[in-house]
Amino acid sequence: MYPNFKKTLIQWSNDHKRLLPWQNTKNPYHIWLREVILQQTRIEQGSSYYHTFLMKYPDIQHLASSSLEDIYKSWEGLGYYSRAKNLHQTAQFIVEHYQGIFPRQYDLILQLKGIGEYTAAAIASFAFDLPYPTLDGNTYRVLARFFGVEIPIDTTEGKKYFKQLAVDCLDFQYPAQYNQALIDLGATICKPMNPLCEQCPLSSNCEAFNKEKISLLPVKSKKINIQERFFHFFIIHWNHQVYIQQRKQKDIWQFLFQFPMIEANETKVINHEDLATYFNGRFQIIEESEIFIQILTHRKIKAKFWEVRASYLQASSDWILIPFHQIKDYSYPKIIREYLSKRYNYIY
Ligand code: SF4
Repeated sequence: MYPNFKKTLIQWSNDHKRLLPWQNTKNPYHIWLREVILQQTRIEQGSSYYHTFLMKYPDIQHLASSSLEDIYKSWEGLGYYSRAKNLHQTAQFIVEHYQGIFPRQYDLILQLKGIGEYTAAAIASFAFDLPYPTLDGNTYRVLARFFGVEIPIDTTEGKKYFKQLAVDCLDFQYPAQYNQALIDLGATICKPMNPLCEQCPLSSNCEAFNKEKISLLPVKSKKINIQERFFHFFIIHWNHQVYIQQRKQKDIWQFLFQFPMIEANETKVINHEDLATYFNGRFQIIEESEIFIQILTHRKIKAKFWEVRASYLQASSDWILIPFHQIKDYSYPKIIREYLSKRYNYIY
């Protein structure tokens, strides 16, 4: 093991602090919130949500006593709403079982809903200075390149190997500073594409740099398969009101709201008879939108929106009739918000 790895990193971090206002905290609630928001979100976007959340829910008690609907509304635009639900449930659990005080032991932190090994290590090290390595995409990349590890990072063997390597490299005296330095180096210098090796403090001993293997590391065994789906959404107008429904099934966008819809293929032509068959009523199609697209991690969602007027209708039991002016009060997937912005000039 290269003996100066951690020393070099810590020295580098003393001179290269990333200017993220939310990094200078030891408050476990703040760190938890920050890490959960950043799980699938870019820093620039996550920052404003983090500050909004702290304003609305300044501590665990406030978060626990808020309604899930209110939290979803605050989360709108971040995606992956299960994160918001887990935040809420975990806040309630901490209030109920730990008197609202974040547990200090790694094992107890890891048992909390929605907190995996990375987030538990981040809270344990950044808030409580406990020696646990934060192993995320950035740190996998730096370790794989520096040590020239060719074991695929997405295999059981690779995960086990890197977990041990991360522990072997960890600075047990300054775990918070070391973890932050490794994450920062991966994010700003050892980037996935075109890393800035000439500015890297580790370059003279880096295997990938010295053996010209940078573009080959880290190794991944699998390619992500992207599934394409096509949704037709119907904005059914009924006496200045409109129908929405909540997505309850375990699928994308669980618990978000949408307009009544069918899933079909892109070329499906919708006519009045189709609507009568799908939705049991008499309808007039007023307008058909262009195709909207939203990319998720494993899916590409395409959607078309149909403005429809009903003259007779038997609504499904899970439809909710709301006054048209209240549309904005509900949380929708990004693709629906984009349509509402474009069609009705709503600002999100
Ligand atoms: S020298 Fe280049 S490849 Fe090696 S750790 Fe530094 S930035 Fe990454």
